[in-house]
Amino acid sequence: MNFRMPIRAKLFLSHVMAVLLVSGSIGTYFYTSAAESLMDGLKERLQASAALISQTLDANTLRTVQSAADIAQPGYTEALQKLRALRRMNPDIAFLYVMRQEGEKILFVVDSDETEQQALPGAEYPHHIPNLIKGFTGLSVDAEIVTDEWGSFLSGYAPIKNSRGEFLVGLDMRADKVRNKSKNLRISGVCSLIASIALAFLFAQYLAARFTGPIRLVIDRCAAIAAGNLEERKISARTGDELDQLLEAFNHMSTTLSLAEQKKQEAFAALRRSRDELEIRVLQRTADLNEVNNKLSNEIAQRIIAQTALLEAATVDPLTRLFNRRAMMERFEHEVARCHRSHIPFTVIAIDLDRFKAINDTRGHEAGDSILIEIGVRMKSMLRSQDSIARWGGEEFVILLPETELCSGRLVAEKIRGRIANTPFYINGDAMQVTASFGVAEFGPESEINQVLKVADELAYAAKKNGRNRVETEGGRCCGEDAG
Ligand code: GH3
Ligand code: MG
Ligand code: MG
Repeated sequence: MNFRMPIRAKLFLSHVMAVLLVSGSIGTYFYTSAAESLMDGLKERLQASAALISQTLDANTLRTVQSAADIAQPGYTEALQKLRALRRMNPDIAFLYVMRQEGEKILFVVDSDETEQQALPGAEYPHHIPNLIKGFTGLSVDAEIVTDEWGSFLSGYAPIKNSRGEFLVGLDMRADKVRNKSKNLRISGVCSLIASIALAFLFAQYLAARFTGPIRLVIDRCAAIAAGNLEERKISARTGDELDQLLEAFNHMSTTLSLAEQKKQEAFAALRRSRDELEIRVLQRTADLNEVNNKLSNEIAQRIIAQTALLEAATVDPLTRLFNRRAMMERFEHEVARCHRSHIPFTVIAIDLDRFKAINDTRGHEAGDSILIEIGVRMKSMLRSQDSIARWGGEEFVILLPETELCSGRLVAEKIRGRIANTPFYINGDAMQVTASFGVAEFGPESEINQVLKVADELAYAAKKNGRNRVETEGGRCCGEDAG
């Protein structure tokens, strides 16, 4: 069974049960024995007193007393005086009397009562009490308290000397005295029971305190551990019983937990330290990498610039920013391949500035350079996006017109020639005219590029011969359409 009650209450209950069982049974036994021995003592005293008193009387003198009329008989008065004297001497005796048995009747002979209730000789005692009847022949005592019109009594009886079963002397002890003694016994029994229960309570309290004190300490420590307070704090309480083993086991567990917590904290601290060190190293390494990366980026950028510059230097004429001869040759190769695929011709224009040496000589080399730059800009602005122009060398230029037949190329050459010749160049604020001679040749599927270039160059030379500021075409074709 599982009682939901604190140890204190359980201990108290068990002690009270034990007290009730032990003290109740033993107390009852002692109470009943004491009550019995009290009654027995009383009965013995009553019996002894009755026997003693019976010996002081003589039946022969009492036979003269038969009725109320005999109260003057010496036998009556003598007996009455004796009984009254004895009663006065012994305050425990309530009534002292002599009775006579006459057939079935019990009659009073002498009654020591000094009140109006005194029974006169010959008065019949109306009750039939077996022990009283026995008293005529031998010593007898009431088994229980007897109640009659004179009150409640415990009575003892003894036959009177020479009575031969006719007379007895009776003596009554008032029941309240007997009752008082029994009551005192009960009260002392109840008092001892109450005292036992009080002692049981105090002992239970003491035992409970010895039990619950250490348990409360364990509960408090468990709560502290559950709340995360793992610092080692041993419970020093000792009870001298099995609880000590529990406390020892708990202290051991607490120490183990505390050590484990300590190790955990140390491991955490080491982990934090190595994490911080790692972070610092990562930061340093990142900074190093960033530095290297920046250096590499700079180097790459510089290399790209250098490569671009190299590429430009390899393909671009530094003065006019037009393609150089080498870059132009690549384009020719490209166009030659296309022409071979498509069978569509392209045109090459060779340009040589007229009397340029004289410009240099008269205006200076720098002026000559600026004219070369300006002529490059003018020619390029007049070409399509798919056309190419290169400075071929000195004051000579070459134009490539893809997918263009000779006559169309000639028209382009004429437009450029006109633009150069008819728009003045300014040197230090002075306007001056510059002209150029043009040779135009067509590249067809059967042609050879160096040959075509040579033809174009020769045609430009022919233009010089024919008066300069002219366009000459292969075989003089399209000459009728000259724009002049
Ligand atoms: P023409 O062609 O009409 O017969 O006469 P020209 O004076 O142009 O004759 P030529 O072709 O023999 O001379 C070319 C001149 O171009 C020589 C040189 O002074 C000049 N020249 C060549 N390259 C450059 C250059 O890069 N800058 C300058 N300023 N002049 C150059
Ligand atoms: Mg020349
Ligand atoms: Mg020239």
